[in-house]
Amino acid sequence: MPKPLVVTDDTRLVAYDLRTNRVFIGVAESGCGTNCAYCYIPNPGGPQILYPSQSIVWAVEKLVSIIQLGREGTLISLCPDTEPFKSQASTSRVLSVLGRVMPLGNPIQISTKERVSDRVMGQIAALQEYPGQVVLFTSCVTVSGYKLVEPGAPAPSVRFSNFTTARSSGITKLPVHETATCWRC
Ligand code: SF4
Repeated sequence: MPKPLVVTDDTRLVAYDLRTNRVFIGVAESGCGTNCAYCYIPNPGGPQILYPSQSIVWAVEKLVSIIQLGREGTLISLCPDTEPFKSQASTSRVLSVLGRVMPLGNPIQISTKERVSDRVMGQIAALQEYPGQVVLFTSCVTVSGYKLVEPGAPAPSVRFSNFTTARSSGITKLPVHETATCWRC
């Protein structure tokens, strides 16, 4: 079985899985803040340490030069190991990546436990090349025990407001993960 091709020397920043034709782009060197009990990253409760914007731009450009472009091309998964919408800074980096890759037409996945604001949802929707280009997963493993299992995440009722926001913003696919949120979990 072929191993993922690591595009940079930091696998948290970007890695290309040859087997599944899927690429992972991260925005954080470490930390998350959501502190899920089932998380695999080293410091899930720690604060996010974000990559400098320039590092992300550089990595994404390398990535764009090797992936298959277009609607039938490589699947792009954002933030496999942190919460993409944890802060204004992380959101800004995510929107920057989306601004570069969405015009390419590739399908894109983002997983979150945060409430995505109307403004950000609208920005993402406006970037879509076609309905359903972005799939925004909003996950919840437990409704009653989230404070124990996902102590840094908002209440499920808050997360689920993403459904309403997505619908009104024109993002057409917004399934709920029934298990874990992160791609490598
Ligand atoms: S599972 Fe995801 S959201 Fe939860 S702490 Fe880990 S990286 Fe953060």
